Amino acid sequence: MKRNTFPQDKNNRTRSGPKGLIFNIQKFSINDGPGIRTVVFFKGCPLRCIWCANPESQRACSEQMRDDVRGGFTTVGEYKTVAEIMKTIMQDRDYYEESGGGVTFSGGEVLNQAPFAIELAKAVKKEGIHLACETSGYARPEIFKALIQYMDFMFFDVKHWNSQKHYEGTGVYNELILKNLQIALEAGKDLLVRIPVIPHFNDSLADAAQFGRLFNQIGVKKVELLPFHQYGLKKYAELGREYAMKDTAQLHTEDLRDYKKILNRAGLAVKLNGSF
Ligand code: SF4
Repeated sequence: MKRNTFPQDKNNRTRSGPKGLIFNIQKFSINDGPGIRTVVFFKGCPLRCIWCANPESQRACSEQMRDDVRGGFTTVGEYKTVAEIMKTIMQDRDYYEESGGGVTFSGGEVLNQAPFAIELAKAVKKEGIHLACETSGYARPEIFKALIQYMDFMFFDVKHWNSQKHYEGTGVYNELILKNLQIALEAGKDLLVRIPVIPHFNDSLADAAQFGRLFNQIGVKKVELLPFHQYGLKKYAELGREYAMKDTAQLHTEDLRDYKKILNRAGLAVKLNGSF
């Protein structure tokens, strides 16, 4: 039978199995799901959010990045097998068990390398480890369904309630994303929708009200607000890329209190600054 012919899968299959393009594996994370977690960062994303704090995650290839601290350049992105990543994951198994933690797939966009991610997800679940993902939800529904069946928890980003505005800020429309969100909810997935709140893009109180309406229609119950920050600023310079939002002021938790109230009034539980 013919195999799935995703470009990433076709190009990166070796005798030792499929390989995924990974740009970081972060151990002992406490912000990417319950407990202590190992976060696997997949390189390559179909979106181009104008505020992206991880521009080194966007391109689906390894690339050179200037290192302004140590000097010289570092290579971002390395092809790794399931076995190589599992070796790192298993080093912290005791911590996952003690803390109720596990593994989180992040990015970039994990759905961009779905065939490899599915192989890795199967290996994680075979070890009985809790698995989460952070996703933009942008993929064909059959690919989305194939991956999320392995997920115990999902962070699902929705960047704008309006499709045209979504396109202007990210380079893609939101219909497919909302369809996949609905699929995940109908599948009974435990998920937290996240809104990155971005100045002049989706930060008005009218936007909050529209998000509330949309989420009520779809059946979303829990939302997290992520205030715009500038943690990625330096990376654009190190990659030699323009950053459209370099002069935009950061938002703070207190700036989003009214935004939160409007979503609360729409019946949503809203997480801000780490708690609901
Ligand atoms: S979806 Fe995430 S990784 Fe992709 S461009 Fe947007 S912010 Fe960056």
